[in-house]
Amino acid sequence: MSRTILRGRVLTFVSEPQGVDDTASYRYLEDGAITIEDGKIIAVGDFVSDDIAEVIDHRPHLILPGFIDMHLHYVQSQMIASYAASLLEWLNTYTFVEEQKFGQQGHAGAISSAFFDELIRNGTTTAVAYCSSHPQSVDAFFAEAEKRNMLMVGGKVMMDRNAPEALCDTAQSGYDDTKMLIERWHGRGRGLYAISPRFALTSTPEQLEASQTLVAEHPDCYVQTHLSENAAEITYAMELYPGSPDYTGIYEDYGLLGPKMLLGHCIHLNHRETRVLAETGSVAVFCPTSNLFLGSGLFDHERLSKAGVRIGVATDIGGGTSYSMLRTLDEGYKVLQLRGQRLTPLNSFYMMTLGNARSLSLEGTIGAIAPGNAADLVVLNAGATPAMALRLATVTSLVEELFLLQTLGDDRAIAEVYVAGARAKSTLGGL
Ligand SMILES: [Zn+2]
Repeated sequence: MSRTILRGRVLTFVSEPQGVDDTASYRYLEDGAITIEDGKIIAVGDFVSDDIAEVIDHRPHLILPGFIDMHLHYVQSQMIASYAASLLEWLNTYTFVEEQKFGQQGHAGAISSAFFDELIRNGTTTAVAYCSSHPQSVDAFFAEAEKRNMLMVGGKVMMDRNAPEALCDTAQSGYDDTKMLIERWHGRGRGLYAISPRFALTSTPEQLEASQTLVAEHPDCYVQTHLSENAAEITYAMELYPGSPDYTGIYEDYGLLGPKMLLGHCIHLNHRETRVLAETGSVAVFCPTSNLFLGSGLFDHERLSKAGVRIGVATDIGGGTSYSMLRTLDEGYKVLQLRGQRLTPLNSFYMMTLGNARSLSLEGTIGAIAPGNAADLVVLNAGATPAMALRLATVTSLVEELFLLQTLGDDRAIAEVYVAGARAKSTLGGL
C-alpha cells in the first residue's frame, strides 16, 4: 500500500464561520502534511520528514478540500453563453434544442469526457448534475465518473410536458427509467443518484406522483428540482397547480421535500415557503452567475439563513457562466452586496467545501481535510496571473489571500487537483 504526503499550507473548515475574524471555524497549518493512503486521508498535522512516504511539496500554495458544486446541467456544456432575455425564452430557444442531441449515439460520452475535464481544471471534485431525459446520458455521466473515481451525484431529468416531444418521457417511463438507473448506478463506486423531476412546469401531476413513489421507495437517493427562479415561471407554476398554496407547496403536496431535497435558485420565496423549507430540512441552492445572467433575481442569503434553511452554492452550468467555484463565489459576493449583505471570504470557502458537503449530508466523507475523508483536494496558487501576483505582494493575511483568490482567481489559480489521492489536473491530456 503506497503512502503519499502532501506538503503545503493546509486550510480546512470545521464549522460555519460567524464573521471575518472567526478563527475557530477553521484549521490552518503553515507547513502542513496530509498523509494519504488508499485514496483516503489518514493523518493531518505539521510536516515532519518521513522516509517511508513519497512527499509532494506544494509550498507555498494552499491545499483545501476539493470544491463541491451543488447544481449544474452537464448536458448544457455546449450551450453556455447562449443569448436570451430570460429563463423561459432561454429554455425554449436553446436548452430544449441542445438536450435533444443526447438522444444521438456517442454524443453523451463525448460531452461527459469534456465536462469532467473542465470540472477538474476548475478544482471541482464533486458535482450534482442534471443529465438529459435520455437514460444513456446518465450512463455516460456515471461511467465517466467511475473511470475517474470521482464522487458524483446525478440523475435523469424527468419531464412529460411543455417541452419538445423528443425530450418528453411519460409518468410511467420516467418512473421505470429512473428505477432502472438507480439500480444500475446508485452506490456503485462513488456514484450517488438524484431523482430529478426538472421542475413543476415540465411535470404533470402524474409525474410528480411517480416522483413521490420513487422518493418513498429510495429514501437514500437525492431529489433535485428547480424552485422560484423567475417571476413568469412562478405565475405559470401556480396556473398548472392551482390547488397548491405557493410554488414550494407544489413539491410539498407531492411529498418531495426533506433533507435530501436540493432546490435550485429559491429566489422569490414567501415566508410560508421559507418556513416549510427550514422545517423539512430541504436545501436551497444559490446559483449566482446563473441568476445574474438570466436576470432572475438576487438570492436572499441572510433571510433564508436566519430562518434556518440549509443553503448550498452552485454554478448552474449552462445558465451559469463559469465552471469555476471561485468565479461563482465572486459573483455571489456581488449579489449579496446588492442585497446589502456581506459574504466573508471565510464563508465563501466554507460554502464551496464543508458547507456544500453538509448540505449533501456527506460530512465525514468529503469537504474537509480530516482522517477518514476521501483525499479529494485542490491546490490553490494566489499568484497565478501577473495581476494576482501583483496584488499578492501586498497581502498580509489568510483572509486577504482567500478574497484575492475568489475575486481574481479562476482555473489558472488551480495548481493541482487530487481525486481519491491521485493527481488529476496535471495528468489531464492537452495541458
Ligand atoms: Zn438548473
